[in-house]
Amino acid sequence: MEFNCGTPLDDAADFSPDALMHVADRPPPVFVRGQGSWLWDREGRRYLDFVQGWAVNALGHSPALIAQTLAAQAATLISPGPGYWNAPSARLASRLVAHSCFDRVFFASSGAEANEGAIKLARKFGALHRDGAYEIIGFDQGFHGRTLATMSASGKPGWEALFAPKVPGFPKAKLNDLASVEVLITGKTVAVMLEPIQGEAGVRPASDEFLRDLRKLTRERGLLLMCDEVQTGMGRTGKLFAHEYAGIEPDVMTLGKGIGGGVPLAALLASEEVCCFEPGDQGGTYNGNPLMAAVGEAVFGVITAPGFLDEVVAGGERLAAGLAQLSARHALGDVRGESCLEPCEVEHAARVTRHVSPRSRVFGRAHSRVPCAP
Ligand code: PLP
Repeated sequence: MEFNCGTPLDDAADFSPDALMHVADRPPPVFVRGQGSWLWDREGRRYLDFVQGWAVNALGHSPALIAQTLAAQAATLISPGPGYWNAPSARLASRLVAHSCFDRVFFASSGAEANEGAIKLARKFGALHRDGAYEIIGFDQGFHGRTLATMSASGKPGWEALFAPKVPGFPKAKLNDLASVEVLITGKTVAVMLEPIQGEAGVRPASDEFLRDLRKLTRERGLLLMCDEVQTGMGRTGKLFAHEYAGIEPDVMTLGKGIGGGVPLAALLASEEVCCFEPGDQGGTYNGNPLMAAVGEAVFGVITAPGFLDEVVAGGERLAAGLAQLSARHALGDVRGESCLEPCEVEHAARVTRHVSPRSRVFGRAHSRVPCAP
C-alpha cells in the first residue's frame, strides 16, 4: 500500500478554512516550514519569528536534535500506557528533581493540564492536612490555562463572565501587593498560586521582594506556594526556573511550553510533603509517554549544558537593546522583562501586528504589549 505523506497545507485547494473551529483570528499566511528563528509560508516567504509557538520552541524551530530523537524513539517505543514504567519519563523526572528543589514529578501534555493537576494536588492536601481547606488565592491578570478550573484560577480581564458557573474557590489578589493576599486568607485557604512573571498579561514581573515576602507569609500561615512556570521555566528567563531569581523554594511548580521544545509535554513538580496523590487520583492516557519524554530529556540536556543559560542572558540583553532602539526610533512604549521574555509596548498593536510589509514580516499578538519570546 502507498501512503501519501505530503502535507495538505502545501496545496491551497486541499483544505477549507471553515473546517476548523473559529477559536483564533489567524492572519492569512499558512506556515509550512520552520528552521531556527525563521518560518516559511507556502508562498515561500520567510518570516523572522518572535513568537516561537507562544514561547514554546526553546531550541528554535525543528532542531535536528528533536527530529532525530522523535524518529529514534518512535521506532523504539511510543506509548506503553501510563500504568507501566518507561525509561525516558523516569530519567527525565530524575533530572528535573536533581536540578530543582522538588522531589517528585507528574507529566502532562499541556500547561493547563499540569496546572489542573496542581489545583487537585492542593485540594487533596487541604482535605488531608488543612481541615478541608480548598481555596487557592490567584492574582489579577494571572493566566493558568483554558480548562474550566484553570480559567477560574486565572485573573484574565474579560474572562469573569465566560462559561458560567466558574469553578469556585479562586479569590484574586493584586500582584506585588502582600496586603491584598493577606486580606484574602481564611480558614478555607490552602494555597497561593502565581506566575513569577505574568506572561499573558504582557510580561508583568512579581518583584523578588514580593516573592520572598509571599514565601514567608505562606510558610507562617501553613499555605502552599505554587509557581506556574509554564512560560517562565526551562531557561526562558536566563535561569532554569524564574523563581530562582528571588532565591525562594516553592512547594509546587508547573512547567510546560519549553520543556518539550515544541512537542506536547508539561510537568507538575512538588515537594515530598505535598505529594499526596494516590493511585486513581490523577492520570491520563498520554501522561509521561516515552515519545514526548525522550524529547524532554534531549531538550533538558541542551538547556542544562554548561554555558547555555549564559547565552540566553546574553541574547536577552541583545534583544532588550534592539527593542529599546526600535522603541526610541518609533516612539513606542516601555521595554522590560527577563532575558528572552521581553515585551515592547505598542499603541494600536493590533494594527501593527497585522501590517505585513513586502520586505519584512513580524507577527506578534493584538495586544498593547507585543511579547517577544524568540
Ligand atoms: N500557564 C501559563 C503561565 C501560560 O502562559 C500558559 C499558556 O500560555 C498556560 C499556563 C497554559 O498552557 P497550555 O496552553 O499549554 O495549556
